[in-house]
Amino acid sequence: MLHSTVQLNDFRINTLPYMMNDPFTRMKKVKNIIFLIGDGMGFSYTTGLRYFNHNSRKGLMNPTIFDQYFVGTQSTYSLDAKSNITDSAAAGTALATGYKTYNGALGLNSEKQEVPTILEYAKFRGKSTGLVGTSQINHATLAAFAAHHESRENYNEIADDYFDERIDGKHKIDVLLGGGTSYFSRDDRNLVEEFKKNGFGYTTNSIELFADRNEKILGLFAPKELPKHIDRYLTTVPSLSQMTSAALQRLKQNPNGFFLMVEGSQIDWAGHDNDIVGAMSEVKDFEAAFHAAIQFALNREDTLVISTADHSTGGMSIDRNDNYKWNPSVIRSIKSTPAKIAADLHKTKEISSIARHMQLSLHEEDLKVIQSTLELEIEDTRQTLINIINHYSSTGWTTKGHTGEDVPIYAYGVNRHMFSGRMENSDIGRILFEMID
Ligand SMILES: [Zn+2]
Repeated sequence: MLHSTVQLNDFRINTLPYMMNDPFTRMKKVKNIIFLIGDGMGFSYTTGLRYFNHNSRKGLMNPTIFDQYFVGTQSTYSLDAKSNITDSAAAGTALATGYKTYNGALGLNSEKQEVPTILEYAKFRGKSTGLVGTSQINHATLAAFAAHHESRENYNEIADDYFDERIDGKHKIDVLLGGGTSYFSRDDRNLVEEFKKNGFGYTTNSIELFADRNEKILGLFAPKELPKHIDRYLTTVPSLSQMTSAALQRLKQNPNGFFLMVEGSQIDWAGHDNDIVGAMSEVKDFEAAFHAAIQFALNREDTLVISTADHSTGGMSIDRNDNYKWNPSVIRSIKSTPAKIAADLHKTKEISSIARHMQLSLHEEDLKVIQSTLELEIEDTRQTLINIINHYSSTGWTTKGHTGEDVPIYAYGVNRHMFSGRMENSDIGRILFEMID
């Protein structure tokens, strides 16, 4: 629970040593902040996207939309006695509050004290606020911006807090778009009805979202996470960029400005699965959302767009077969995630139905191996497909977990220069606080 109105009043950031007396680090006050986090989106993912988009073996590769806004890197490690690789809760907390903390913590410092988040502080300063993601909206990275818990696993309590906790008597979050009906509409409590009673619009599909005109909105498009972009029917489930635009349309109406956090939540999940098809699907969805944010900020002098990752995932590597060749054309030729293909194959029990999902023609032996898994679990088929795709695309992975290398920072607009060079993840949170102070 949040008891931090006093803390918000008292909150003063410690100016970073390198910011003192340096004319190049003077900041302007900023009206609007759009903070986009690609969960797990380390350098190999954005580099992979550049290869993925380049439909040729020859010539210069076109930059991704991220590339032209690259400003610096940040170190992601948490303050955890047992681990020196961060999880999403600790990294999200560092980015949201300016405090590094232990793995699993949401909105608490390493002494387990509640610390205000930039979203809460923006609300305290009279701004509108939004949370947009492709996981359930109460999942770790998103929750780190708007809840305070010793464990990220308290999903129902986090959803309750999104409704119950107020800043100066006002709802903390004005726009919530993502997945998670099962946490908001429960047997013990119906948060959907409570939000509606308090003036929020409520939508569960794209068409309703586009038609809705409420300034405050709760949009939940799946029981938990949304389908990956490549598996999504956009008439039902919006893309991340569509949700970002819907949020911006509403938030921009506040003359005091806004803070919007957007998460590409499942880049990380694809990384945990070592699934390169899912990874490219989610990085592309996230890139389009970043583009929508940049489009909003273009020709304005009052908005900062910043994008980074909370950590990298999976140790993804561009080439694994020791022949100096990564084959993104293999990935491009596959039109569904391995999870969806596996589910479909188990429904039909027909190996030929694989052709619906890929233009790539597999070898006879590969088809036999896949066929043999149809007697087993869906998971066995999914894993077999992942292995085959990694082999032919030559995508390497070192772990099913997170990795500790520094991650990129991209920024555009007011105070973009503040994020240049190498910094700690917690520095980003601190600088954002200072910007709206
Ligand atoms: Zn993760």
